[in-house]
Amino acid sequence: MAHVDAGKTTTTERILFYSGKTSRIGEVDEGSTVTDWMQQEQERGISITAAATTFAWRNHLVNLIDTPGHVDFTMEVERSLRVLDGAIAVFCAAAGVQSQSETVWRQADRYRVPRLAFINKCDREGAEPERVMAEIKARLGANPIAIQAPLFAPRGLRSTRDIVLESAHATGATFEGVIDLITMRARTWDEPSFGATFSDGPIPHLHVPIASRAREQMLENIAELDDELMASWIAGRELAPEAIRAALRRVTLAGRGVPTLVGAAFKNQGIHNLLDAVIDYLPSPADIPEIRGRDPQDLGGTATTIVRKPADSEPLAALAFKVQSDDAGGQLTFVRVYAGCLRVGDTVLNATKGHLEQVHRLVRMFANHREDISQIEAGMIGAVIDSRGSRLANGDTLCDPRAGILLDAMAVPNPVMGIAVEPETLEDHAKLALALERIALEDPSFRVRTDTDSGQIIIAGMGELHLEIVVDRVLREFGVRARVGSPQVAYRETLTRKAEGENKFVRQLGARGEYGHVRLLIEPTDRGGGYVYENRAVASEIPSEYAPAVEAGITEAVERGVLAGHPMTDLRVQVVGGSFHPIDSNNYAFKAAGGKALVAAATKAAPTVLEPVMALEVTTPDEYLGEVLGDLHARRGKVAGITGRPGVQTVACFVPMASMFGYATDLRSRTRGRATHAMELDHYAEVPHQLRDDLISISSRRARA
Ligand code: GDP
Repeated sequence: MAHVDAGKTTTTERILFYSGKTSRIGEVDEGSTVTDWMQQEQERGISITAAATTFAWRNHLVNLIDTPGHVDFTMEVERSLRVLDGAIAVFCAAAGVQSQSETVWRQADRYRVPRLAFINKCDREGAEPERVMAEIKARLGANPIAIQAPLFAPRGLRSTRDIVLESAHATGATFEGVIDLITMRARTWDEPSFGATFSDGPIPHLHVPIASRAREQMLENIAELDDELMASWIAGRELAPEAIRAALRRVTLAGRGVPTLVGAAFKNQGIHNLLDAVIDYLPSPADIPEIRGRDPQDLGGTATTIVRKPADSEPLAALAFKVQSDDAGGQLTFVRVYAGCLRVGDTVLNATKGHLEQVHRLVRMFANHREDISQIEAGMIGAVIDSRGSRLANGDTLCDPRAGILLDAMAVPNPVMGIAVEPETLEDHAKLALALERIALEDPSFRVRTDTDSGQIIIAGMGELHLEIVVDRVLREFGVRARVGSPQVAYRETLTRKAEGENKFVRQLGARGEYGHVRLLIEPTDRGGGYVYENRAVASEIPSEYAPAVEAGITEAVERGVLAGHPMTDLRVQVVGGSFHPIDSNNYAFKAAGGKALVAAATKAAPTVLEPVMALEVTTPDEYLGEVLGDLHARRGKVAGITGRPGVQTVACFVPMASMFGYATDLRSRTRGRATHAMELDHYAEVPHQLRDDLISISSRRARA
C-alpha cells in the first residue's frame, strides 16, 4: 500500500520475478506488468483494482495484493486490509510521507495490520531515507525501526571503495546496495542478472562507523519495546541475529514497531531483503488469534460472538472479498478462508444470503496463470470459479452449514459524485444495464440509480477518476454507445433540529379499506452519524408483522430527501407509536404512512443541504505558491497549514468538492505541471444559503418538467 507512484507495482513485479513466478520483469512504464492487467491500468500506469496473487518464498506461501494508491479506489485498499494479515507500506525516498500514504496508514491502523515500511527509490535525486523515517514518526505517529542502512557512494565517485568523504549518506549520491544491521553485512545486486543475483560481503571500511551507530540505534529501539531483548542487551550479552529477529517479530506483531527497509525496486535493489523481512516479521495465519463472527440466525445481532481458530480442523469460516469477471464469462470470487478448509465438491452455507452454494472449482492465482486446486486451507486466499451464474457477492460469508457464522463485511464508503449516462438506443440501454450490473458487482463503492424526476441513469462513485474509468469501461469494454453528462456532486440533506411527525393513511377501496398509522420522532445526530432507525412502537399499536413495511416506507423517504431530492443523513428516526385496524390494515398502508410521517417530521425539522468537503494537499515549487493559494481561495478553499522543504511548499486545505472539478488539469497548466495534488473526502458540511436555495429551485424545476 502507498501513495500513487511510490512504486508498489514496480516492487510487486520484482517480488514475482525473484520468487520465480514470472520469467521477465514487467514495467509499469511499458504497461507490461502482471498486476495492472486492466487496459485502463496499463494505459494510465496506475493500479485500479487490487490484484491478488500467490508466490512462494523460503518454503512459505505468501498471498500478495497490490493495492491502488489513488484515493478514488480506497475501497480496494479497505477490502485488502480486511483480509490480509500484514502489509508493506512503500514510500518514495525523495517525496517521503505523502497524503495518500497517510490515508492508507490510518486504514491499516484501523484494521490493526502489522506492517513493514519499504523506503523505495533510494536511487533518486534527493533521496533521503532518514528524513522519510522522521516523517513516518511525525506524520504517521508510528515507530519505524531501521534494520538496514543505505549504501550510498558520493556522486562523481564510481564506487564505495572510492569513498573519501566523511558523509556516506549524502543526498543525491549513488545508491549501491544495503547494509543489513542485524548481520552487519553489505549486499549489492548484480545488474546484468536484473538483480537476480547479489553478493554479500563485509561492510566497506568507510561505512563501518555509520553502520555501527545505526545498529546500536536499532537495538536500542527494539529493546525499548521488548523486555526479553532489553534484558540481554543490558547484560551486555552478544546478541545473535536470531534473537534480534525474534524480538523484532514480537514487536511487529504487537503493532509496536515497524521494521524499515530501503531499496530501489526499479533498479532491482532491496527486494530479496524485503521478502525475507515479510517471512521474518509479518504474521502467518497461525499468528492471528481467532476470527469472530455472529450467529447468522440472530437478525438483531445481539447474541454472543462466535469464535473460530485458524485451523483446518475447525468448521469453515470464509469471506468473499472480491468479485471479478472471468474471461470465459463466469465469475471469479476471491475468498479468504479464516478457519476450516474449503474443498471442491463441498456444499457450503452463504450465511449472508441464507442459501447453500455448491463449490465446483477452486483456483489459486499465480502471477500470470492460475492453477486448479482441490482446497483452500485455513489462512489462505484463493478464488472460487463458478461459470453457472454464481450468486456470490462481495462481503458474503461462506461457512459450514452445520456451524453457521456470519463475519463482518467490509466498510463501504458512500459515493461522493455522480454522472448521468444516456444510452443512445434501446439496444444500448440493455447493454448498459448489463455492464453497470457487472461493474457494481465487482466494485461496491460504485452505485447506480435512476433519477426519479428525470428518469436518467446516474452512476455514482468516489471521484472523477473513478467515474472516468467506469465510463471508459462501459463504452469500450462493453461497447455501449451513450452520452455522458458532466460530473455532479452527491449532496446530502440533513436536519438541524428535533421534530415529530405523524400520518394516518386511510383509504376506502370498494368494500375494503386500507389503514396504517405511524407516529415518529426525528433528530439530528453528529456529523458522520449516518441514518439510524429505531422501532420503539409497541405491538399493540403497530403489530410486528407491519414493522418491516413501516421501516421500508421511512427508509425510502430518507433516501428521497425532502428539500432537493438528495438522500438524508446524520439523523435518528424513532418510530414511537401508531395504530392499526384489525381488518383494513395492510403493508401498503403502513409503508405509505411511514413515508408520509417522515416527510411531515423532516419538513418541520429545519432541513438543510450538506456538501462533501475534500481534504486537499497541493505540493508546489515556491514560485507558484501565490498562484496556487489565490486559486484555492477562489474555490472556497480554507487553508489549514503550509509546510515547506527547501524549494517546495505543501498546502493543506479544505475545499468543497463542487469547486474541484477539473482541478488536476487546471493545476497542471497554472504550474507548468510542476505541482502535484491529492485529495480525499474529509467531511460533509452545510452549503452556503445561496447554494442551498439554488439546489432547491433546480430540483423543483426538474420535478415540474
Ligand atoms: P505505484 O503507483 O505505487 O504502483 O508506483 P509504480 O510502481 O507504478 O511506479 C511509479 C513510477 O516510479 C514508475 O515510473 C516507476 O518506473 C518508477 N519507480 C518505481 N520504483 C522506482 C525506483 O526504485 N527508482 C526510481 N528511480 N523509479 C522508480
